[in-house]
Amino acid sequence: MKKSYQERDVSEDAKTVLKVNDLQVYRESIHALKGVNLEIKEGQLSTVIGTNGAGKSTLLNTIAGLLLPKSGQVIFEEKNITGVPAEKLAYTGISLVPERRGMFPELMVEESLRLGAFNRYKGYGASKAVIKGIEEDIEKMYELFPRLKERRKQLSGTLSGGEQQMLAIARGLMARPKILMLDEPSLGLAPIIVEEIFETLYQLKQSETTIILVEQNAKAALQVADWGYLLENGKIKIEGKPSELAGNKIVQEAYLSIH
Ligand code: ATP
Repeated sequence: MKKSYQERDVSEDAKTVLKVNDLQVYRESIHALKGVNLEIKEGQLSTVIGTNGAGKSTLLNTIAGLLLPKSGQVIFEEKNITGVPAEKLAYTGISLVPERRGMFPELMVEESLRLGAFNRYKGYGASKAVIKGIEEDIEKMYELFPRLKERRKQLSGTLSGGEQQMLAIARGLMARPKILMLDEPSLGLAPIIVEEIFETLYQLKQSETTIILVEQNAKAALQVADWGYLLENGKIKIEGKPSELAGNKIVQEAYLSIH
């Protein structure tokens, strides 16, 4: 990425929103996570970098309640949410933007955004204030991603890969999550689009959104993050400030030379 971002000082006092304690997860016979610990601070962008198969998606899917760990805990706002199913967690403020985006191709952009706010409706309806809030948030998403405004009446399935990723992030934000988790948003996108999307993530963290970003594109991820973890073969190998990770020999040789 050409742009240079300012690394923020991470405050020790920031509130911990999510904690992952000694998480052990199996995918059939594969021991995919072997004792993972994370501490996610409010308003910060934490990134988990690692290669294909390191266990990154398994980690996000377990936090989101889509996979059940063998042992360990996920603590969200001081409550143990381990094993709480995904459909319940979506209402408590954890939003996952999955790898490959999970589009509804037959919905228009604007309909997809409205659907993202599903957790703000009660039963079959919503108060005028809630509906007004949702409409205002749709406009905010258009400010964040002007391309989506141009495409508001277009079917999601006809968008380019980059636009679909933008829509997926915007849809995730429409739930007003306490934590937004992004699984590999750069996947399959041209470098210029990756730059555009990461610039938006950088803007989002300035507005105090708590983000967990899982990425193979270590270079791009470390440029926008406040804290970084390197996941290798199901274990956190190093954690620290992004500049420390970027200066680490292991990270440089294995992860930064390829991008
Ligand atoms: P990628 O970037 O390819 O998604 P990743 O770091 O997200 O990689 P995971 O998808 O979490 O890694 O995979 C961790 C391990 O679990 C790998 O060894 C993978 O082969 C295995 N795995 C992933 N999904 C399944 C599945 N549905 N069934 C069995 N094993 C799986």
